[in-house]
Amino acid sequence: MTVKIPFDNSYARLPDGFFSRVAPTPVRDPSLIVYNTALADELGISSDNRNELAVLFSGNGKPDGAEPIAQLYAGHQFGHYNPQLGDGRAILLGEVIDQTGTRRDIQLKGSGPTPFSRMGDGRAWLGPVLREYLVSEAMHALGVPTTRALAAVRTGDVVLRETPLPGAVLTRVAASHIRVGTFQIFAARQQWDALETLFDYTVARHYPEARDPHDLLDHVMDRQADLVARWMSFGFIHGVMNTDNCTLSGETIDYGPCAFMDRYDPDTVFSSIDRHGRYAYSAQADIIVWNMAQLATALVPLLPDQDAAVERFTKQVHAMPDRIRAKWLDHFAAKIGISAPRPEDADLIGDLLNIMQHGQADFTNTFRALPQAAARDQFIDPTLFDAWAARWNTRLESENDPTALMRRTNPAYIPRNHRIEQMIAAAVDGDDAPFHRLLEVLSRPYHDQPEHADLQRPPAQDEIVPATFCG
Ligand code: AMP
Ligand code: MG
Ligand code: MG
Repeated sequence: MTVKIPFDNSYARLPDGFFSRVAPTPVRDPSLIVYNTALADELGISSDNRNELAVLFSGNGKPDGAEPIAQLYAGHQFGHYNPQLGDGRAILLGEVIDQTGTRRDIQLKGSGPTPFSRMGDGRAWLGPVLREYLVSEAMHALGVPTTRALAAVRTGDVVLRETPLPGAVLTRVAASHIRVGTFQIFAARQQWDALETLFDYTVARHYPEARDPHDLLDHVMDRQADLVARWMSFGFIHGVMNTDNCTLSGETIDYGPCAFMDRYDPDTVFSSIDRHGRYAYSAQADIIVWNMAQLATALVPLLPDQDAAVERFTKQVHAMPDRIRAKWLDHFAAKIGISAPRPEDADLIGDLLNIMQHGQADFTNTFRALPQAAARDQFIDPTLFDAWAARWNTRLESENDPTALMRRTNPAYIPRNHRIEQMIAAAVDGDDAPFHRLLEVLSRPYHDQPEHADLQRPPAQDEIVPATFCG
């Protein structure tokens, strides 16, 4: 093999109960769809041999230094505790230290069954693999903390879902795969030594300045508050904010049923399995607090005085909504050109969102158009906008360069759901050009790219894709 991955593994050094050693299951005929050369450079992985990359990133060959494991975790799924989940279709190859000195996980997704697969086949089909590749890379380009995509490979095997579909494997890169559910499983099983070990590992890896579990929670809440506020500022709906899909690192993870909304409506839900809207757009700010409460609960046993710990954790969790509101205000104020928001700006932003909802305005295009008079054209009744714009213009008088701020906070391009579906349909037919085009355009979301103006358009009535699936 000429491909060298400079592995430096640490999770595989943890006690046995943290994971299960398992090798990827070979696939029939791997072929590389896409390889993220820029990310590979960051990770110190060199190679331009596409055949070899396809072999390695399908799981058909084991790179030197890899120690493949499936990680154990539990989690609340739609509010119900599942005492054991774990990587059922993912295998961690190992970790590398990147060019900035940060430890990153390299994980195959769709690489075959593990001891945690339960009834699942351990496989992924092409659709979710390309969706995750595209959306996670788009999120990165937008400036949202996220796991990354290093490679996508067609396996040459058929995966059975409702119909036979082409199989694929995604290579995901993450700051780590430690989840709220990783803490939950050891707490629920009363494995105090393991819980302590996980705490020490997490602090050393992500928050070396944290001195105790309260500090850790504080750091995680800070990252997660910012993350959810950023999601909301782009109209992003994660779709499955179960505690096993909630990272300690503060990166977005698990792009199953996620989608960006077109028209602004705070009740928007895409996920086909989210029947009650638990993870609707505007519910995300409450859900992340709930998830942090589950993390706090799992941290309680680490403290000597449990009553005092519960009291302090409760205070911390109760303070989180204000932190989210503060981050929300920062991100949304920037979108309307305000660099140093005042509390009353929340009303100005809220009023814009209200008229957007009533005026059936496209979320992304309205914000992008704000510096121009054309913003009013996004509303079915443009006069709604005019009254708001008068107040807004008064507020902007004290700002230096609101247009520049708006240009770098309001993307022209997001991965619109109908474009993703069209891209997947083409790829299933063997045409990867739409995927590569979207990937290229979405890597520069804040740049006008007039030749790709069609990708800015919201879906026509017959293009709307109202539901997404977990894959
Ligand atoms: P997710 O919906 O991706 O967050 O997955 C939730 C749990 O289901 C995790 O434990 C996954 O590993 C597992 N899972 C999802 N799909 C499959 C599959 N095709 N085969 C095995 N396990 C799966
Ligand atoms: Mg998951
Ligand atoms: Mg998923």
